[in-house]
Amino acid sequence: MSLQKSLRSKAVAVPLRTCLVCRLRAEKKTLCRLVQVGDELFYDRRFRAPGRGYYICRKAECLSRFLAGKRRLGRLSVGAAALDSESRAFLNSVCKI
Ligand SMILES: [Zn+2]
Repeated sequence: MSLQKSLRSKAVAVPLRTCLVCRLRAEKKTLCRLVQVGDELFYDRRFRAPGRGYYICRKAECLSRFLAGKRRLGRLSVGAAALDSESRAFLNSVCKI
């Protein structure tokens, strides 16, 4: 097989991320990205905010489990209480499946 052909036949890598709540891996763009800034947590609508990103599914179940969770999830050092109210509203409007 020529180099050219092997490059072309390689599947395009889709970035996968793990949901903090259910631990399922999914395509990054199908998840909601959260970014921790200091002691606060924000919903990063554009996947561009600097800082470490955390992901949850766009599922009502994952969101409610995340919001109800009192223990820390994954490497996140803050809980859902650190979510600002705007981010919370966005998540509620997005996670409806
Ligand atoms: Zn999930």
